[in-house]
Amino acid sequence: MTPRLIKITIALLFCGVIILSGCAAQSTELSFEAMDTFMRVKLFSDNGESASLKIRAETERLDALLSTADKSSAVRALNEDGSLQNGEVADLTRRTLELCGSTGGALDISVYPLVEEWGFISRDYKIPSRERIASLLEGVDYRSVKAEGELVTLRPGMKIDFGAVAKGYLADRLSAVLDEEKTASALLNLGGTVYARGKKPDGSRWTVGIADPENSADFMGSLECEDRVVATSGSYERFFTGSDGRLYCHIIDPKTGYPVDNGVKSVTVVCESGLKSDALSTALFVMGKEKAAEYYKRNGGFEYILLTDKTAYVSDGLIGDFNLARTASYEIEAIR
Ligand code: ADP
Ligand code: MG
Repeated sequence: MTPRLIKITIALLFCGVIILSGCAAQSTELSFEAMDTFMRVKLFSDNGESASLKIRAETERLDALLSTADKSSAVRALNEDGSLQNGEVADLTRRTLELCGSTGGALDISVYPLVEEWGFISRDYKIPSRERIASLLEGVDYRSVKAEGELVTLRPGMKIDFGAVAKGYLADRLSAVLDEEKTASALLNLGGTVYARGKKPDGSRWTVGIADPENSADFMGSLECEDRVVATSGSYERFFTGSDGRLYCHIIDPKTGYPVDNGVKSVTVVCESGLKSDALSTALFVMGKEKAAEYYKRNGGFEYILLTDKTAYVSDGLIGDFNLARTASYEIEAIR
């Protein structure tokens, strides 16, 4: 190569590097506490700073709207007054009620008084008496929640909460924020509900870990995905040991008023809609493995992984995207 050619080649290489670094979006990371959990966000965007600010603001706005723990939240006012005029809450109620209906009430936002009674809100855990459970159950029925126009109304004494869907709904809202901020590549871990947006900057798909219920700091496997929300409901996430020595988890079966105890350890649902993945992860957990499989076969439109002690039931559409960790000892059973 002549000195001139070497010079041209170096100049071209240099150009390439500049172009590449000009093309590759900058990486921005943020982590914060909200919705009673931790959120970790990684953005690949030239608008990382303004996108981060908007993400935090939108998360805080929704927390203040939906949190039952926040005395000034809209949902708290709804539960106290029995009605609320708020277009966004009415819309979310309507969409969540549809999922309560399609899951045959396995998801029921009006189960809240039982969530409270078992101590899952105050963290002052207790096993309520059978009579108390029976009496609270009389008020549980999502069909008595009405959302008409911008108005939500409850039957007297009823209380609702969006704990089972709030993080999924947040994922959908943050997707709209990232559209506005022209951010095509991001990974948002919203307290266990993960939104994998676009692809990684290197063009490969995101890898989302599935917690091992036996030791939730470890992963039992991982999923490759792109433009999906991956929501997990697990009995390990919040539970207490009762005076009878049994474990009671924070997901309540609206038919019995008792924490779910059907052998399911966790359910992960993968779908384009965050609201739906979060709703279904809770609902399939309540349904148990047989009914969850029936629901999947009848409805479709999502994929799931249901873990019991020894088996990972993996729905058809995820078989190729799921990788079992080398250290994990689950049998895999495909759901078709
Ligand atoms: P997490 O919030 O831990 O990610 P989930 O999405 O499964 O888990 O939501 C569980 C929360 O939903 C509970 O803490 C409670 O507030 C509420 N909840 C419990 N059981 C039900 C149910 N059957 N239907 C609707 N909401 C429920
Ligand atoms: Mg959920």
